[in-house]
Amino acid sequence: MGKINTVFEDCDILVIGGGMGGTGAAYEARYWGRDLKIVIAEKANIDRSGAVAQGLYAINCYMGMQWDENQPEDHVRYARNDLMGLVREDLAYDMARHVDSTVHKFEEWGLPFMKDPDTGRYLREGKWQIMIHGESYKPIVAEAARKSADKIFNRIMVTHLLMDESKPNRVGGAVGFNVRTGDFHVFRAKAVVVGAGGASHIFKPRSTGEGMGRTWYAPWSSASAYALPIQVGAKMTQMENRIVLCRFKDGYGPVGAYFLHLKTYTQNAYGEEYESKWYENTRQMVGDYIDHHPTPTCLRNHAFIEEVKAGRGPIHMVTKEAFQDPHLETVGWENFLGMTVGQAVVWASQDIDPKYINPELTTSEPYVMGSHATCSGAWASGPEDLSPDEYQWGYNRMMTVDGLFGAGDALGGTAHAFSSGSFTEGRLAAKAAVKYIRDMRTEQIKISEKQYQDLKTVIYKPMENYSVGQNEITGGTVSPSYLLPIQGLQRLEKIMDEYAGGIGVNYMTNEPLLLRGLELLGTLQEDLDHIGAEDLHQLMRAWELKHRAIASECVVQHTLFRKETRWPGYYYRGDHMKLDDENWHVLTLSRRDPESGEWEMEKAPVYHIVD
Ligand SMILES: Cc1cc2nc3c(=O)[nH]c(=O)nc-3n(C[C@H](O)[C@H](O)[C@H](O)COP(=O)(O)OP(=O)(O)OC[C@H]3O[C@@H](n4cnc5c(N)ncnc54)[C@H](O)[C@@H]3O)c2cc1C
Repeated sequence: MGKINTVFEDCDILVIGGGMGGTGAAYEARYWGRDLKIVIAEKANIDRSGAVAQGLYAINCYMGMQWDENQPEDHVRYARNDLMGLVREDLAYDMARHVDSTVHKFEEWGLPFMKDPDTGRYLREGKWQIMIHGESYKPIVAEAARKSADKIFNRIMVTHLLMDESKPNRVGGAVGFNVRTGDFHVFRAKAVVVGAGGASHIFKPRSTGEGMGRTWYAPWSSASAYALPIQVGAKMTQMENRIVLCRFKDGYGPVGAYFLHLKTYTQNAYGEEYESKWYENTRQMVGDYIDHHPTPTCLRNHAFIEEVKAGRGPIHMVTKEAFQDPHLETVGWENFLGMTVGQAVVWASQDIDPKYINPELTTSEPYVMGSHATCSGAWASGPEDLSPDEYQWGYNRMMTVDGLFGAGDALGGTAHAFSSGSFTEGRLAAKAAVKYIRDMRTEQIKISEKQYQDLKTVIYKPMENYSVGQNEITGGTVSPSYLLPIQGLQRLEKIMDEYAGGIGVNYMTNEPLLLRGLELLGTLQEDLDHIGAEDLHQLMRAWELKHRAIASECVVQHTLFRKETRWPGYYYRGDHMKLDDENWHVLTLSRRDPESGEWEMEKAPVYHIVD
């Protein structure tokens, strides 16, 4: 690669990732910070980026407070129950009390909502979900962000945060590169909001080979939201709480609308109901949690996994009955067309018409994320009117690094936020970031040339590795001097799968496996210094892999630390097969020392602010 152009941008608030959290942050930052300079740096293009790129069919988090359908307290109870008792109730409550106003804005901005013909209210799919014609969901929220931000830099892969040199532990911006032009970008900012999504492809996916891009969570969600804060020493929480989804086989098509709206149900290969068979077994592991309503998602997975292990798979979704009703049949297909077109294509290619054949379900590989039915992510300060002292060290949604905020998948403890809740979290983070900047008054951020020049060398090293090492290749693609991103990715996925509880081992792990996994991740990290990128696209892949690798290490450290099986169906600690409320009714926290790379783990109390 020739001379690299450096582009500087100085701003007040830098938003990393223009997905649901990021667009919400840009919108709200402008509301409170009319005079501030707000910039978004996005790896793709905000019009069609992130997990909502393809659209959605339902907004999964809406209280309906105006009609007293649900109150924030109800949502906290629901999320807490689904996560086996462990969420950040202050953050969850804060999101829930504001989420309705976000949804009303979406409607104002033109998102078409389905309405109940009798009541005129939003049409409910379930207690928390409302149905939308959501193909254009993402362009609609992107437009709000475009109108709010001063500048949007699309196609920028952010690789590192910058740290202020005038004050310890304070963020000062970020650096990255343009994945199309190769330009090096230096963003100096007083506050940074990370909204870079969750993590797919850290565990080996069920779809491999030519189909490996087909995962449930977006394949481009590459753990940057975790790696960026981890690299600068921010504390993380609940990173062991990976999620496994029950989905339609091979296409990962969603099942929520089928269960909730079409009232379909599951059965084993012999047409039998199976969940009740596993009641006693599950009770032995988790006690009363099995009697909670609704049954926590992980426990339903557990019954599924055990039934298949017992040799009575595959599990089918019974669609043949519901699909006899032409209206429900339409809803069933439209559910995919608005969000997971691939599932309809897979069924067509496999001669499956759900009107005549009950399709197979499967359990997915694990994903790490903080906004769906799980709550991995950064440890953040809570709202001042709600949070216990221990959860409050300054500004709402600020991580343990000053000036560094997060939203959506980036933040830990806030399960079941989904798209609307992530946008809401972005709004809350940005409002606090504006206050933080106002409180800084005349203080300035100092970033030396050395800091960003050093990072520049590190960022483009994979291209140098390639251009030097390629001369040693005499045939094929295997080089003695570098490994390619795809090779590194498959190695990472294999380690995580076999040692940290992936699909290959029925989600089972234990201390010896995790310790060995950490050793293997350590040697992978060493080898990643020798990754080779033949072009800018591969350079992006190289950095995605590096982000995934560091997040994976964090996942393994947390899984090792929590000595219990808290979420059977998500993963099992074979050496501690029971839930242990006496010792582990706590949140787990980690911090990686940026200098030494050593991890420190601790427990944080769970405060139940809702009865
Ligand atoms: C298959 C699927 C189905 C879902 N179904 C529903 C549903 O029906 N209803 C619902 O309400 N919610 C649903 N969700 C959840 C919802 O999509 C997420 O909760 C929400 O998108 C999370 O917001 P976020 O901002 O954290 O991440 P995202 O919206 O994914 O945004 C992350 C952004 O960061 C960018 N980015 C990543 N890395 C970098 C980097 N290094 N530098 C710069 N930019 C970067 C990405 O390109 C992306 O634009 C679903 C999610 C998935 C994956």
